[in-house]
Amino acid sequence: MFNFSEIPCIDNHCHPYLFEVDPQHYAPLESFVGFKDGSPESNAHRDHMLYNRWAIRELAKFLGVDPTAEAVAKARAAVGDEGAYVTRLFADEGIKGLVIDTGYPQPPVDMVEFRKRVPTTLFPVFRIEPLIKALLDERVAEFATFISRYDSAIRRALREEGFIAVKSIIAYRTGLEIKMEHESDAAGATGLAAALAKPTEMMASKPLRDHLLLRALRICREENVSFHVHTGIGDADIVLARCNPALLNETLKQPGYRDTKVVLIHCYPYVEEASWMAAALPNVWIDLSEGVPFALVATDRIFEKGLDLAPINRIFFGTDAFAAPEHTWLGAKLAKQSLARVLQSFHERGFIEGSEGYEIAEKILIGNARDMYLAG
Ligand SMILES: [Zn+2]
Repeated sequence: MFNFSEIPCIDNHCHPYLFEVDPQHYAPLESFVGFKDGSPESNAHRDHMLYNRWAIRELAKFLGVDPTAEAVAKARAAVGDEGAYVTRLFADEGIKGLVIDTGYPQPPVDMVEFRKRVPTTLFPVFRIEPLIKALLDERVAEFATFISRYDSAIRRALREEGFIAVKSIIAYRTGLEIKMEHESDAAGATGLAAALAKPTEMMASKPLRDHLLLRALRICREENVSFHVHTGIGDADIVLARCNPALLNETLKQPGYRDTKVVLIHCYPYVEEASWMAAALPNVWIDLSEGVPFALVATDRIFEKGLDLAPINRIFFGTDAFAAPEHTWLGAKLAKQSLARVLQSFHERGFIEGSEGYEIAEKILIGNARDMYLAG
């Protein structure tokens, strides 16, 4: 049986978090789904999720306490130095770095404080939607001014502010079916006027958002960085019918865009479609976060489907950690165990050699992230 517990990893997609350790409420037990108002009903909803029950048991082992939410939360509240605790937690699973989407939460987390509490290598990702919102809220009506401020803010983030990639959550706004007819400046200018005329109607901003996403893709190509795009499930705000990554296929195969490195974030439950895109297009990578770890029992299926067609150098491990470092720790533990089962099965079926198992796991857990974010 393969054992990948010693392979280090980089979390390809997560968010910064600051929280007070509260013995009554333990952040790592939150999933991205559910209702987080702290009421007995919402807590009961959470406590019936399999992810939650499994997370309690795993964390109880790490903290050396009884497997109850209360005991785990109490032990966590007593750990003392947060930075030292996170260092120990991350060392336990060989977590070497976090690719971190600073666009959530809003308002942004204080990254100086975050770095103190989570002492690891960070790869920050710049999200375009807060920038678009700021420009729209300011009612910048002249298209040339809007675009000049938009482009330069992205380039500044990449060149001067330490961001290593650009991200969009257009799936949460107007969907992934980007219309190429919105590419021209004339279409962008019309789109800006429409968005400003109907600020409360999200779909009125679709031409503008399509235009701005295409601009960002071109900037990423010129700056030689990757573009991350949310696909698949999210919280209840997602435009569910418009988040299938296959909707991006038309755009990503266009001559002006097929040289931009695009990372499809999450993909679940559309992992098969995403795996096909990573195989069919020269510029597509897939990230399997969020399904791992929160769709706990789907993890083996997610890795299996990811490996359907996608080349092994196009797949990232990630977690979508959004509330606490334990999300990444739980995701890493789960991913290593799951990859061992999945690749063992491939080996037994004669699909891979024994030596390939380690190679594949190493690429998914860390090698592909190193190649993407540290090379060149
Ligand atoms: Zn996320």
